[in-house]
Amino acid sequence: MLKGKVALVTGSTSGIGLGIARALAGVGADIVMNGFGDAQEIETLRRGLADEFKVRAIHLPADMSKPDEIAAMVKGALAQFGRIDVLVNNAGIQHTAPIQDFPPERWDAIIAINLSASFHTIRLALPQMLTRNWGRIINIASAHGLVASVQKVGYIAAKHGLVGLTKVVALETATTGVTCNAICPGWVLTPLVQKQIDARAQKEGIDVAKAKLDLLSEKQPSHEFVTPEQIGGLAVFLCSEAAAQIRGLPLAIDGGWTAQ
Ligand code: NAD
Repeated sequence: MLKGKVALVTGSTSGIGLGIARALAGVGADIVMNGFGDAQEIETLRRGLADEFKVRAIHLPADMSKPDEIAAMVKGALAQFGRIDVLVNNAGIQHTAPIQDFPPERWDAIIAINLSASFHTIRLALPQMLTRNWGRIINIASAHGLVASVQKVGYIAAKHGLVGLTKVVALETATTGVTCNAICPGWVLTPLVQKQIDARAQKEGIDVAKAKLDLLSEKQPSHEFVTPEQIGGLAVFLCSEAAAQIRGLPLAIDGGWTAQ
């Protein structure tokens, strides 16, 4: 389906981003990976994608909190592959604390990575999508882009902002072959969530398995984690012709979280 097309997935060295990169490579897209990690492990992931799915894959190490590095990443992707057809804004971080204890530098970092980075990638990648009149922009927001919880002021402000940004870009591209949507996952068991489970187990003096179950049952009626593979499948669907008129939607994939 995406043979000959190029997908750039930010934060694709781990978790959901890696699941999406694998799913897009699985339908033939060449992949531009991005994200932090051990250089050797990233190279193993990159080579794994290329070998398993017979696509081209590169890794560009830009820090999504830095607009100049984002610009260099988009430039580098275009220099190496000549096009970006699918842009997935996925890189994200979390910090939990009540607002009065929330460190201002964590607020700034969360807004930069979880929100402003998407503004920069989209403004830089969109023009060349429009010249071919085809593109798919997929912003990984969150159930927390739709509803709130305590102790996540930076994350929730950024994710609600990302849903708003998604709607504007969808309207500005509505008469073109470029679509822009957001995916809003509930709990997915990735390193980002494992940290929250471990912190909860420690704080409440319970074991990790109990903390995991408590976390799920508090928010997610299915009591099951969403998987990176399921989110990858949704991203592939958004790239299909069937999804060409889905525009500006925050798509929940959350085990019923936001149905409550
Ligand atoms: P993760 O920690 O497993 O992966 C985050 C990725 O982003 C990694 O590849 C990391 O290297 C990269 N990254 C972090 N900071 C970066 C920076 N400054 N520059 C470049 N790359 C950076 O987390 P995840 O759970 O896979 O989260 C991915 C996205 O999904 C995030 O936007 C997150 O908010 C969102 N999300 C996660 C969940 C969940 O339950 N895990 C739920 C809803 C939304």
